[in-house]
Amino acid sequence: FFASVEMAPGDPILGLTEAYLADPRPNKVNLGVGIYTDEQGRVPVLKAVQQVEQALARDTQPRGYLPIDGLPAYNKLSQQLLFGEGSPLLEAGRVATAQTIGGSGALRVAADLIKQVAGDKARIAISNPSWGNHHVVFRTAGFQLQDYRYYDDTTHGLDFAGMLEDLGKLEPGTVVLLHACCHNPTGVDLEPAQWAQVVELVKERGLLPFVDMAYQGFDQGIDADATAVRMFAESGIEAFVVASSYSKSFSLYGERVGVLSMVGADRDEAARLRSKIKQTIRANYSSPAAHGGQLVAGVLASSELRALWESELGGMRERIHAMRAGLVQKLAAHGHEFGFIQRQAGMFSYSGLSKPQVERLREEFAIYALTTGRICVAALNTQNLGYVADAIAKVVG
Ligand code: PMP
Repeated sequence: FFASVEMAPGDPILGLTEAYLADPRPNKVNLGVGIYTDEQGRVPVLKAVQQVEQALARDTQPRGYLPIDGLPAYNKLSQQLLFGEGSPLLEAGRVATAQTIGGSGALRVAADLIKQVAGDKARIAISNPSWGNHHVVFRTAGFQLQDYRYYDDTTHGLDFAGMLEDLGKLEPGTVVLLHACCHNPTGVDLEPAQWAQVVELVKERGLLPFVDMAYQGFDQGIDADATAVRMFAESGIEAFVVASSYSKSFSLYGERVGVLSMVGADRDEAARLRSKIKQTIRANYSSPAAHGGQLVAGVLASSELRALWESELGGMRERIHAMRAGLVQKLAAHGHEFGFIQRQAGMFSYSGLSKPQVERLREEFAIYALTTGRICVAALNTQNLGYVADAIAKVVG
């Protein structure tokens, strides 16, 4: 039966991690992965999360199934984080929200649902470049894929004119995938005034905005990073989608904690969307996992733990800013201008390093990055920063 099955290509990022792990050099640095590590190079366990975990361990409960759309408290608290407390959309009952298997699960459930509605006309426009899984998820769900211009490699910033031009040419009804903040892989984001223009254009052209927010709180803060979501909410647009994730903001990568929110024109439309979301989840994996959802809901439901989490999230954010600043400063001391790294945001940076330069970093210095030049600045720390900066200075000559 399986004799004709072909070998699927390996994931390039995971392949890089395997090579890194097998590298015996003691000074090796992995800037390839999408994981935040702390000053000691470890994936942090947040204190707020630990407190909920300890409480759960003390009071072991039977392990029944969660509802198909997850823990009600998780969904309600997530809505407030995404749309803001007192959001008129929430008050009008226009948002259908479900706990999903990570942000990836939210993308996939929404993709399946939209495909069902749009049929053969299902089309999505994705920034060039974007997180590789965006293409995989939407292609697998049966969408036709298009790119829109986004990154300008001459400025290492945004090609905003190109983006507007490309979005302006899309067929009405096309889904537009937008990174809310901390764009993966470039680190290049829109300013609020630019978001306002995109919102206007999307509205005028009759496109369906699909906001992917995997890094809320990793750049400016919880509310500021949700600017795009809040602007769509205020725009009067009848329908949009938000996929979000707590993988990074709670440092709960393996717990697979994500959220899908679909906004409809009114309460009735949202109720129908909710029923369709549940049907789609049921057909995919029946219901989400309980533990991660309980951790997040436990933190968000307690004002004390929420404040602790916000300060820990703030600590991660500030450390990333400090690492960006440190890298720019050290490279400047070598006579290299990399100021754009400080204008980019979040865990990643399109460093502008070429493929041969990235290969030299790996071969000569045991520093692992993606051949596109994407580096994870959240994997830098005060112990490896000088080494990485010196090595980059050598390879850029
Ligand atoms: N969207 C983007 C842009 C991401 O970078 C990621 C994680 N790398 C995700 C979604 C998915 O997050 P999760 O790990 O929660 O599935």
